[in-house]
Amino acid sequence: MIGLVDCNNFYASCERVFRPDWEGRPLAVLSNNDGCVIARSNEAKELVEMGAPTFKIPPAARQQLILVSSNYTLYGDMSRRVTATLREFTPDVEIYSIDESFLGFDGFPLDGLIEHCCEMRRVVRRNTGIPVSVGLSTSRTLAKLANRRAKKDATFGGVCLMDSDGDETRAVLKDLPVTDLWGVSGRLGQRLAQLGIVNAWQLREADPKRIRARFSVVQERLVYELRGIDCIDTDDYGEPKKNIMTSRSFGRLSSDPHEVRQAIRAHAARGAEKLRKQGSVARAIQVHLKTNKHREDLAQYHPVLVVQLPHPSNDTRVIVGAAQAALKRVYLGGYRYMKAGVMMLDLAQADTLQHDIFDSPESDAERERSAKASAVMDELNRRMGSGTVRLGGTKGKADWKLKAELLTQRYTTRWDELPVAHLK
Ligand SMILES: [Mg+2]
Repeated sequence: MIGLVDCNNFYASCERVFRPDWEGRPLAVLSNNDGCVIARSNEAKELVEMGAPTFKIPPAARQQLILVSSNYTLYGDMSRRVTATLREFTPDVEIYSIDESFLGFDGFPLDGLIEHCCEMRRVVRRNTGIPVSVGLSTSRTLAKLANRRAKKDATFGGVCLMDSDGDETRAVLKDLPVTDLWGVSGRLGQRLAQLGIVNAWQLREADPKRIRARFSVVQERLVYELRGIDCIDTDDYGEPKKNIMTSRSFGRLSSDPHEVRQAIRAHAARGAEKLRKQGSVARAIQVHLKTNKHREDLAQYHPVLVVQLPHPSNDTRVIVGAAQAALKRVYLGGYRYMKAGVMMLDLAQADTLQHDIFDSPESDAERERSAKASAVMDELNRRMGSGTVRLGGTKGKADWKLKAELLTQRYTTRWDELPVAHLK
């Protein structure tokens, strides 16, 4: 069985842990420089659209809303704490996003698994204050759908197991447009519709060989995934509009800091390239390292760190620089690492992004220059093979401050910003 754990309204939930008085009130989190809304509590969803520019929020909605600046230091640390608790319930935890992880439950008895996950949910809430939903099934795709159900329908109590077969699964899949599935774009959806495939059930029932011939092996795998056959790795399971993850195992255990650094650099550069390819920019990145969970004889270390970018970017230099800085902070010698990864978080469309010259420390000229350099690099790498042109060492960023007027405290990582309890 595979589980997908997703933190409910993660950024809003992180803020509420330390401000219980915000519970039940509409809360929205703003992007870098307080430009637009990037996360909302349930109550805020009726009041403000995702991505809405802050200055366009109507005064009436603004009066009701609690607005905060994005506090990536806090979210990154809360994410780390949630993941650490999940590891108490299974050794097999694959980080998928800042607020989602795929869990492997191989060897766990099936009866009792739901109770195990209910307990996990309770303990995550107790340890971190974060509410999570759990979806269980035999493939990542179905686990994801199960998770969606767990979140929507309160009668599940936060944990939903979806069978790979049966009437219920059939009803859920029939109700789901193919374009809602992972990796199915609008254009692909149109081509599937021409074959009479408009819902997920129809895709599941399609002939995999035919789907492969018409489309690609990716879509063939999706057919199997919908049948409950696990055939997509977490590393390859990327929803392009949401986040981009590039990570790989070293192929052997490595305790060489140079090798780890090279891997992080390559993943960061690859992530930036993927961003440019789909016309996106990232607002933050997450860097993580893993030791081998199966080697119980070796010391384990799974650091994760989230870094906010100075401005939303798909510039290789900016992203590699941030990833290297993050690595410096979490890398510890003496461990044998198996895997390294970099994730691009909170993506936005590059062309719709507003560049406010008063907010952004990067001038138009600079931006144009870096866009040109990145385009040349992409072209050379495309023509002559990935990795032909790479960045040399990157200089540290100039010291300047983001506009984040509504920033909450970094409650969990700074001594001088710890929450204070008042006794009555
Ligand atoms: Mg979530």
